[in-house]
Amino acid sequence: MTTAERALRLAGQNPGSPVPCPICVAGVKGANLERHLAKVHGDSRCADEARWRGPERVGSRWLLGLAVVVAAGAAGFTATSGKRDDRVILGSIGLLAVAMIAWGAVGWGARLFPGQLRVDGRGAVLRHSYGLGRRRLRSVEEVVLGSAWEGRPSGISGNDDSYESVDVRVGAYLQLCAGRRRITVHCRNAGVVRTTWTGWQQGRKRKRLDITLDAAEFVALQLALWELGVLAPRVAGGGDGGPQ
Ligand SMILES: [Zn+2]
Repeated sequence: MTTAERALRLAGQNPGSPVPCPICVAGVKGANLERHLAKVHGDSRCADEARWRGPERVGSRWLLGLAVVVAAGAAGFTATSGKRDDRVILGSIGLLAVAMIAWGAVGWGARLFPGQLRVDGRGAVLRHSYGLGRRRLRSVEEVVLGSAWEGRPSGISGNDDSYESVDVRVGAYLQLCAGRRRITVHCRNAGVVRTTWTGWQQGRKRKRLDITLDAAEFVALQLALWELGVLAPRVAGGGDGGPQ
């Protein structure tokens, strides 16, 4: 079933409740969604029903971790062997610098590492680190929803050269959980996810995010989770006992 078919089925079951438009992600009353799609979006296509691509942040964390291990190894080698090999020292400093720049750039939203998320009846898979890494959940047992944050230099520097960092809100995340394994999916414009669904748990604010999807893909993910029975539509007027 395509994303558009899922959205229309959800709208048909909830004519009086707002459902997320799968293209512009605005909340549209279920009874009006079909007309909204035809009138506002014409031939625009929805995101795929199970596979979405977006920049991931796991690869940059791996790269930084690897660089720290190499630098520590080089320091240990230099200390124990008593030989000062400038190539080893400069090489590991260079790798560490490149890794830190890549890590910082990804934190700022640079699309350096393309990732892919797949969610279907077989569970959820995040491909990261240029396809070298994979994180798989056999099933999605629980979904956590919360606000996503990033640390940014505040631009205020005192008389010294230190920069203060401020946390800025950068949208929301949906975290797919299976036991202790988790995939944290970020979206800068999450739309009406909170008022559309029940079945999720409220999560704390998070800066550690795994992949960023655009808004239409984020809605397609929600519809896929609905089809898997993880999320359920919130009925207008509340009183459905879902988390607030
Ligand atoms: Zn729309």
